[in-house]
Amino acid sequence: MCKACQTNSVWEFTNKRKLCRGCFIKYFQKKLFYTIRKFKMIKNGDVVGYGNKGDFRGVVLEHILLIFAGKAMVGLVKLPSKIKVSKTAVSDTLDSNSHNFVSALINSNLKDLEKIKPVVDIKGKIIVKPLYLFLDREVLLYAKLKKLKFKEGKIKKNNICSFIDKLEQKHPEVKSAVIKGYIESFS
Ligand SMILES: [Zn+2]
Repeated sequence: MCKACQTNSVWEFTNKRKLCRGCFIKYFQKKLFYTIRKFKMIKNGDVVGYGNKGDFRGVVLEHILLIFAGKAMVGLVKLPSKIKVSKTAVSDTLDSNSHNFVSALINSNLKDLEKIKPVVDIKGKIIVKPLYLFLDREVLLYAKLKKLKFKEGKIKKNNICSFIDKLEQKHPEVKSAVIKGYIESFS
């Protein structure tokens, strides 16, 4: 039960707080715009390119960027395109980032750690990750609640993904803990 609205809940946080459909959508959008601001991902005048492969992460990224561009002075371009963009938005989530983080550690690829930041500068190409603080589960639920059309199909999982997923069963906050710790290390 959603406490605020006294209606059925669709989401439960690890601290047992529950949200109904409307409250979940509000929470999701608020946290997303907060993420964009906090990490200074997009500013007025930016032309943001984004890809959408049609999976749930891609369709949610597109949906949310459209809402954002409606409120800010920001140009949006679907990639690939011939127009020059100032930023490229990608659909990395807490799941993919925590996975890449653990992979980089296990493979001693410390150079790869740079790529896990919320904003990455690769030789002047700026990559931003608006879904940075969301679990795949949250992104998927948002796509379903908003009735966005996406291709079903499992995201490929290797041993490291399964390892983190197993860890998550006993330590529900492990993915955000990994990324929070990582962000604090450079901010
Ligand atoms: Zn509610």
